[in-house]
Amino acid sequence: MLFDTHVHLNADQFEEDVEEVIQRAKDTGVEKMVVVGFDEKTINKAMTLVENYDFLYASVGWHPVDAVDCTDKYLDWIEELASHPKVVAIGETGLDYHWDKSPKDIQKDIFRKQIHLAKRVKLPIIIHDREAHEDIVQVLQEENAAEVGGIMHCFAGDMEIANACLDMNFHLSFGGPVTFKNAVLPKEVVKEVPLDRLLIETDAPFLAPHPNRGKRNEPAYVKLIAEKIAELRNITYEELASATSANAKKLFGVT
Ligand SMILES: [Zn+2]
Ligand SMILES: [Zn+2]
Repeated sequence: MLFDTHVHLNADQFEEDVEEVIQRAKDTGVEKMVVVGFDEKTINKAMTLVENYDFLYASVGWHPVDAVDCTDKYLDWIEELASHPKVVAIGETGLDYHWDKSPKDIQKDIFRKQIHLAKRVKLPIIIHDREAHEDIVQVLQEENAAEVGGIMHCFAGDMEIANACLDMNFHLSFGGPVTFKNAVLPKEVVKEVPLDRLLIETDAPFLAPHPNRGKRNEPAYVKLIAEKIAELRNITYEELASATSANAKKLFGVT
Protein backbone atom coordinates (compact mmCIF):
# COMPACT_ATOMS: atom_id res chain seq x y z
CA MET A 1 0.00 0.00 0.00
CA LEU A 2 2.89 2.40 -0.74
CA PHE A 3 3.11 4.50 -3.92
CA ASP A 4 6.57 5.81 -4.88
CA THR A 5 5.62 8.79 -7.05
CA HIS A 6 9.13 9.56 -8.29
CA VAL A 7 11.79 6.98 -9.05
CA HIS A 8 14.51 6.69 -11.68
CA LEU A 9 14.59 2.93 -12.25
CA ASN A 10 15.74 4.02 -15.71
CA ALA A 11 19.04 5.38 -14.34
CA ASP A 12 22.40 3.77 -15.12
CA GLN A 13 22.77 2.96 -11.38
CA PHE A 14 20.06 0.28 -11.80
CA GLU A 15 21.40 -1.16 -15.06
CA GLU A 16 22.72 -4.33 -13.40
CA ASP A 17 19.95 -5.28 -10.97
CA VAL A 18 16.70 -3.46 -11.76
CA GLU A 19 14.64 -6.66 -11.43
CA GLU A 20 15.91 -7.32 -7.89
CA VAL A 21 15.37 -3.67 -6.96
CA ILE A 22 11.76 -3.86 -8.18
CA GLN A 23 11.21 -7.14 -6.33
CA ARG A 24 12.56 -5.70 -3.06
CA ALA A 25 10.16 -2.77 -3.46
CA LYS A 26 7.21 -5.14 -4.01
CA ASP A 27 8.27 -7.23 -0.98
CA THR A 28 8.30 -4.05 1.13
CA GLY A 29 4.73 -3.15 0.18
CA VAL A 30 5.34 -0.75 -2.71
CA GLU A 31 2.28 -1.30 -4.83
CA LYS A 32 2.96 1.20 -7.63
CA MET A 33 5.72 3.51 -8.87
CA VAL A 34 6.10 6.30 -11.39
CA VAL A 35 9.33 6.04 -13.39
CA VAL A 36 10.41 9.54 -14.38
CA GLY A 37 12.14 10.13 -17.73
CA PHE A 38 13.90 13.44 -18.24
CA ASP A 39 15.87 13.14 -21.51
CA GLU A 40 15.94 10.94 -24.63
CA LYS A 41 17.72 7.98 -23.03
CA THR A 42 15.80 7.90 -19.74
CA ILE A 43 12.43 8.38 -21.47
CA ASN A 44 13.12 5.42 -23.77
CA LYS A 45 14.11 3.27 -20.77
CA ALA A 46 11.05 4.37 -18.79
CA MET A 47 8.75 3.37 -21.67
CA THR A 48 10.36 -0.09 -21.87
CA LEU A 49 9.97 -0.59 -18.10
CA VAL A 50 6.29 0.39 -18.03
CA GLU A 51 5.56 -2.00 -20.87
CA ASN A 52 7.18 -4.84 -18.92
CA TYR A 53 5.60 -4.25 -15.48
CA ASP A 54 1.89 -3.56 -15.01
CA PHE A 55 2.43 -1.70 -11.69
CA LEU A 56 4.91 0.79 -13.18
CA TYR A 57 3.81 4.07 -14.80
CA ALA A 58 5.84 6.71 -16.63
CA SER A 59 6.20 10.47 -16.51
CA VAL A 60 7.89 12.01 -19.55
CA GLY A 61 9.53 15.42 -19.72
CA TRP A 62 12.77 17.34 -20.06
CA HIS A 63 15.03 18.21 -17.11
CA PRO A 64 15.84 21.91 -16.59
CA VAL A 65 19.57 21.20 -16.19
CA ASP A 66 19.58 19.95 -19.80
CA ALA A 67 17.17 22.58 -21.16
CA VAL A 68 19.80 23.71 -23.72
CA ASP A 69 19.54 20.28 -25.40
CA CYS A 70 15.73 20.30 -25.65
CA THR A 71 14.63 20.85 -29.26
CA ASP A 72 11.09 21.11 -30.66
CA LYS A 73 11.59 17.61 -32.03
CA TYR A 74 11.93 16.26 -28.47
CA LEU A 75 8.92 18.23 -27.26
CA ASP A 76 6.82 16.84 -30.13
CA TRP A 77 7.99 13.34 -29.20
CA ILE A 78 7.04 13.86 -25.55
CA GLU A 79 3.61 15.07 -26.65
CA GLU A 80 3.14 11.93 -28.77
CA LEU A 81 4.15 9.68 -25.86
CA ALA A 82 1.65 11.47 -23.62
CA SER A 83 -1.18 9.55 -25.28
CA HIS A 84 0.36 6.19 -24.23
CA PRO A 85 -1.96 4.61 -21.61
CA LYS A 86 0.90 4.15 -19.09
CA VAL A 87 2.10 7.76 -19.29
CA VAL A 88 0.47 9.54 -16.33
CA ALA A 89 2.30 12.88 -16.10
CA ILE A 90 4.56 15.40 -17.84
CA GLY A 91 7.97 16.03 -16.27
CA GLU A 92 10.18 16.30 -14.58
CA THR A 93 10.41 19.89 -15.74
CA GLY A 94 11.01 23.09 -13.82
CA LEU A 95 14.02 25.20 -12.88
CA ASP A 96 17.40 24.27 -11.40
CA TYR A 97 19.62 27.16 -10.39
CA HIS A 98 22.19 24.93 -8.68
CA TRP A 99 23.89 23.90 -11.92
CA ASP A 100 24.70 26.37 -14.68
CA LYS A 101 24.70 24.19 -17.80
CA SER A 102 21.49 25.86 -19.03
CA PRO A 103 20.94 29.64 -18.70
CA LYS A 104 17.88 30.71 -16.70
CA ASP A 105 16.02 32.21 -19.69
CA ILE A 106 16.36 28.95 -21.66
CA GLN A 107 15.24 26.91 -18.63
CA LYS A 108 12.17 29.11 -18.27
CA ASP A 109 11.32 28.83 -21.97
CA ILE A 110 11.51 25.00 -21.93
CA PHE A 111 9.56 24.93 -18.65
CA ARG A 112 6.78 27.12 -20.10
CA LYS A 113 6.60 24.98 -23.24
CA GLN A 114 6.12 21.84 -21.13
CA ILE A 115 3.34 23.50 -19.12
CA HIS A 116 1.58 24.35 -22.41
CA LEU A 117 2.10 20.76 -23.53
CA ALA A 118 0.67 19.35 -20.28
CA LYS A 119 -2.41 21.53 -20.69
CA ARG A 120 -2.94 20.31 -24.26
CA VAL A 121 -2.67 16.63 -23.24
CA LYS A 122 -4.47 17.23 -19.91
CA LEU A 123 -1.89 15.54 -17.68
CA PRO A 124 -0.50 16.71 -14.32
CA ILE A 125 3.03 18.16 -14.25
CA ILE A 126 5.94 16.93 -12.12
CA ILE A 127 8.02 19.93 -11.07
CA HIS A 128 11.74 19.90 -10.25
CA ASP A 129 12.64 22.97 -8.19
CA ARG A 130 16.20 23.44 -7.03
CA GLU A 131 17.05 26.81 -5.50
CA ALA A 132 14.38 28.43 -7.70
CA HIS A 133 11.24 28.55 -5.50
CA GLU A 134 10.07 32.11 -6.33
CA ASP A 135 10.63 31.81 -10.09
CA ILE A 136 8.86 28.43 -10.16
CA VAL A 137 5.79 29.91 -8.47
CA GLN A 138 5.83 32.92 -10.81
CA VAL A 139 6.00 30.78 -13.98
CA LEU A 140 3.29 28.40 -12.71
CA GLN A 141 1.04 31.39 -11.96
CA GLU A 142 1.72 33.15 -15.27
CA GLU A 143 1.02 30.00 -17.27
CA ASN A 144 -2.05 29.05 -15.20
CA ALA A 145 -0.63 25.62 -14.38
CA ALA A 146 -3.48 25.25 -11.87
CA GLU A 147 -5.55 24.04 -14.82
CA VAL A 148 -3.72 20.67 -14.68
CA GLY A 149 -1.97 20.79 -11.30
CA GLY A 150 0.62 18.19 -10.46
CA ILE A 151 3.45 17.54 -8.03
CA MET A 152 6.18 19.65 -6.46
CA HIS A 153 8.66 16.78 -6.24
CA CYS A 154 11.03 16.50 -3.30
CA PHE A 155 9.58 19.71 -1.95
CA ALA A 156 12.17 21.92 -0.24
CA GLY A 157 10.43 25.28 0.09
CA ASP A 158 8.97 26.98 3.15
CA MET A 159 5.30 27.19 4.14
CA GLU A 160 4.72 30.34 2.06
CA ILE A 161 5.90 28.59 -1.12
CA ALA A 162 3.95 25.49 -0.07
CA ASN A 163 0.74 27.52 0.24
CA ALA A 164 1.28 29.17 -3.15
CA CYS A 165 1.65 25.70 -4.72
CA LEU A 166 -1.35 24.27 -2.83
CA ASP A 167 -3.42 27.24 -4.08
CA MET A 168 -2.48 26.25 -7.65
CA ASN A 169 -3.86 22.74 -7.27
CA PHE A 170 -0.44 21.11 -6.70
CA HIS A 171 0.42 18.21 -4.42
CA LEU A 172 3.63 18.28 -2.38
CA SER A 173 5.85 15.22 -2.44
CA PHE A 174 8.50 14.48 0.17
CA GLY A 175 11.51 12.17 0.03
CA GLY A 176 14.72 11.27 1.86
CA PRO A 177 15.48 14.76 3.25
CA VAL A 178 12.58 14.51 5.77
CA THR A 179 14.57 11.74 7.46
CA PHE A 180 17.89 13.59 7.63
CA LYS A 181 18.96 14.39 11.18
CA ASN A 182 19.93 17.99 10.37
CA ALA A 183 16.87 18.76 8.21
CA VAL A 184 14.61 21.35 9.84
CA LEU A 185 12.46 22.97 7.15
CA PRO A 186 11.11 19.86 5.35
CA LYS A 187 10.17 18.36 8.74
CA GLU A 188 8.22 21.49 9.64
CA VAL A 189 6.48 21.76 6.26
CA VAL A 190 5.56 18.08 5.97
CA LYS A 191 3.58 18.38 9.21
CA GLU A 192 1.43 21.22 7.83
CA VAL A 193 0.51 19.94 4.35
CA PRO A 194 -3.15 18.84 4.16
CA LEU A 195 -3.23 15.04 4.19
CA ASP A 196 -5.13 14.93 0.89
CA ARG A 197 -2.29 16.81 -0.89
CA LEU A 198 0.61 14.83 0.50
CA LEU A 199 2.70 12.36 -1.54
CA ILE A 200 5.85 10.33 -0.93
CA GLU A 201 8.76 9.48 -3.21
CA THR A 202 12.32 8.20 -3.17
CA ASP A 203 13.88 9.97 -6.21
CA ALA A 204 16.06 6.83 -6.23
CA PRO A 205 18.96 6.37 -6.95
CA PHE A 206 19.42 9.81 -5.37
CA LEU A 207 18.68 11.16 -1.85
CA ALA A 208 18.65 7.91 0.12
CA PRO A 209 16.86 8.32 3.47
CA HIS A 210 18.48 7.86 6.87
CA PRO A 211 20.15 5.43 7.77
CA ASN A 212 21.20 4.83 4.16
CA ARG A 213 22.11 8.44 3.44
CA GLY A 214 24.93 8.71 0.89
CA LYS A 215 24.33 5.21 -0.49
CA ARG A 216 22.36 4.27 -3.61
CA ASN A 217 18.69 4.87 -2.93
CA GLU A 218 16.02 2.38 -4.05
CA PRO A 219 12.21 2.35 -4.03
CA ALA A 220 11.95 -0.09 -1.09
CA TYR A 221 13.26 2.75 1.09
CA VAL A 222 10.05 4.74 0.53
CA LYS A 223 8.85 2.85 3.61
CA LEU A 224 11.47 4.65 5.75
CA ILE A 225 10.16 7.96 4.43
CA ALA A 226 6.52 7.00 5.12
CA GLU A 227 7.41 5.89 8.68
CA LYS A 228 9.20 9.16 9.39
CA ILE A 229 6.36 11.34 8.04
CA ALA A 230 3.78 9.35 10.03
CA GLU A 231 5.87 9.92 13.17
CA LEU A 232 6.24 13.67 12.45
CA ARG A 233 2.47 14.03 11.83
CA ASN A 234 1.60 11.85 14.79
CA ILE A 235 -0.57 9.46 12.79
CA THR A 236 -0.18 5.74 12.17
CA TYR A 237 2.02 4.39 9.41
CA GLU A 238 -1.02 2.65 7.89
CA GLU A 239 -2.98 5.89 7.79
CA LEU A 240 -0.12 7.76 6.12
CA ALA A 241 0.54 4.97 3.63
CA SER A 242 -3.08 4.58 2.57
CA ALA A 243 -3.73 8.34 2.29
CA THR A 244 -0.64 9.06 0.17
CA SER A 245 -1.33 6.03 -1.99
CA ALA A 246 -4.95 7.08 -2.57
CA ASN A 247 -3.81 10.64 -3.41
CA ALA A 248 -1.35 9.37 -6.00
CA LYS A 249 -3.87 7.04 -7.62
CA LYS A 250 -6.43 9.81 -7.89
CA LEU A 251 -3.93 12.33 -9.30
CA PHE A 252 -2.53 9.90 -11.89
CA GLY A 253 -5.92 8.38 -12.67
CA VAL A 254 -4.82 4.80 -11.97
CA THR A 255 -6.58 2.08 -9.99
ZN1 LIG B 1 14.23 16.31 -9.70
ZN1 LIG C 1 13.99 13.02 -10.38
